[in-house]
Amino acid sequence: MDVLSDAATTQTLSIVVPVHDEAQVLPEFARRLGAVLATLDVGCEVLYVNDGSRDGSLELLCALRDSDPRVGVIDLSRNFGKEIAMSAGLDAARGDAVIVIDADLQDPPECIPAMVGAWRDGCDVVLMRRRSRDRDGWLKAATAHLFYRVIGRMSPIAIPADVGDFRLLSRRATDALRRLPERSRFMKGLFAWIGYPARELVFDREPRHAGRSSWNWWSLWNFALEGITSFSAVPLKVASYVGLVTALVAFGYGAYVVIKTVVFGNPVPGYPSLVTLILFLGGLQLMALGIIGEYLARMFVEVKQRPLYLVQRHLAPRRPLRGCVPLEQSRSREETS
Ligand code: UDP
Ligand code: MG
Repeated sequence: MDVLSDAATTQTLSIVVPVHDEAQVLPEFARRLGAVLATLDVGCEVLYVNDGSRDGSLELLCALRDSDPRVGVIDLSRNFGKEIAMSAGLDAARGDAVIVIDADLQDPPECIPAMVGAWRDGCDVVLMRRRSRDRDGWLKAATAHLFYRVIGRMSPIAIPADVGDFRLLSRRATDALRRLPERSRFMKGLFAWIGYPARELVFDREPRHAGRSSWNWWSLWNFALEGITSFSAVPLKVASYVGLVTALVAFGYGAYVVIKTVVFGNPVPGYPSLVTLILFLGGLQLMALGIIGEYLARMFVEVKQRPLYLVQRHLAPRRPLRGCVPLEQSRSREETS
């Protein structure tokens, strides 16, 4: 596509790809993505966010940029995690719509035309729901199911289940997301918070093409904690109700002990019940403190007001997306004015 035909295109699309140690998959990813983009009649840019890779991914990305003027590379100063890498990509994206896609080919680029179709029908958010988690193994599928149920009950905002980060956002949805300032970026929740007309498409999540997932059980557990504490205050309330109930029970038991001593004298039994009670109450208090601590730690991070990420190098696409499109054709300008 040359600059002239780009100028004739009314709509533009940014593809944001967070990359962390994906050297093994990147060539195949770029090939499949390129084949899909060639079938689209929108102006495209592909923004790779290098999230502190140590395996030569950056060199590959720079080579991709040299060979394709639509490719841009944002090199973060270190590894910030996928959620923040995505935010960096969304900040840099200029398109009328933005698609976030994993580099490991678990999100098939072949779904992109259908997503663009749904966006053209007027949807601001196109969610990709995975058809099944068969390939994840039963334990991961079961814990994921439990997590979505728990957070579904606790959070006032409906967070769709089995929907990952693979999605399309319109310009106004992207701008809305960028206005959310929090450092704890539980993207699934933030995506849900913005609202706007959404449509779900179903896809088959493929196994990783190569390399390995950066997630382990500990990071998944922390991810779940982050999600719950970012989007629900229920654990804090639970702590106070559990405290209240225990206090009532303890009061009742205290009354029973006093009355028993008054009526029957004091033969000094009760050491086991005493120890049990002390341990039980101590445990409860520590748990409640722990829950408060989780929230406090997040407030601590928020009040520091550090920037979300730092960019080492920002290599914009050699062919700017917006510059080619006449102003009056830019949807985003229509919407924000
Ligand atoms: N990723 C990233 N920063 C990280 C970890 C992962 O940018 O710290 C990227 C990774 O390169 C991939 C995507 O996020 O494009 C999904 O990562 P992964 O496959 O490890 O997660 P999973 O698919 O298991 O959820
Ligand atoms: Mg993956």
